[in-house]
Amino acid sequence: MRILVISDIHANYTAFEAVLAHSAGAWDFVWCLGDVVGYGPDPNECVDRLKALPQLCLAGNHDWAALNRLDVRTFNPDARRAVEWTRETLTQENTRWLEALPVTFVIGEYTLVHASPREPIWEYILEPSIATLNFPHFETPYCFVGHTHQPVIYTLADESADAASALPHYDEPHTLNGQRQIINPGSIGQPRDQNPDAAYGILDIGSGVFEHRRIPYDVQAVQQRMLDFNMPERLITRLEHGL
Ligand code: ZN
Repeated sequence: MRILVISDIHANYTAFEAVLAHSAGAWDFVWCLGDVVGYGPDPNECVDRLKALPQLCLAGNHDWAALNRLDVRTFNPDARRAVEWTRETLTQENTRWLEALPVTFVIGEYTLVHASPREPIWEYILEPSIATLNFPHFETPYCFVGHTHQPVIYTLADESADAASALPHYDEPHTLNGQRQIINPGSIGQPRDQNPDAAYGILDIGSGVFEHRRIPYDVQAVQQRMLDFNMPERLITRLEHGL
């Protein structure tokens, strides 16, 4: 069984389609780590496309914000405007689909969450010390997270030391060797590692091999749709910088 591991599509249908085209034939099932909507111009298109695939999807903070489950006063003004637009734009059917998403999921050797094992909706694992604090909060060898929009692998080689972080080597197989790891595939729709290309991963469960991948997409087409919808300028320009 080969899994397409994706996260943080953020209503960017063009990037999502680019990933699906680039990965065609390489997977049998999809694990989506949440934030299907929020920020981008195509929330319904992304939900419709995803739910038609063989998939398991987790809830993210932006999905919850679009459902009114979070107080958006904690969001910055641009994110809040995008949340309110998303809320008004989502169809009732897609809102109900988002409402049913689980917060954590454990399948075989893998724990899936949007943000972190101890705070599945909120916590950003941006450094090894935070990753270290999270290893006691899941029982499987491996955990996939999204939320930071930055692809990375944290490895806990020694329970008495901090986890080590490693940036991905794209298109190279990374063998899961039993050492406990927290793996972030990166973001499809709004990368924040100064690389605007859409990020995703392929996991081969049978051989225990994971591969990070990157693919460019038509950023300008997405920016034009965001302009048409009068979305905040900062959200439009950040896409071309990967910030
Ligand atoms: Zn996100």
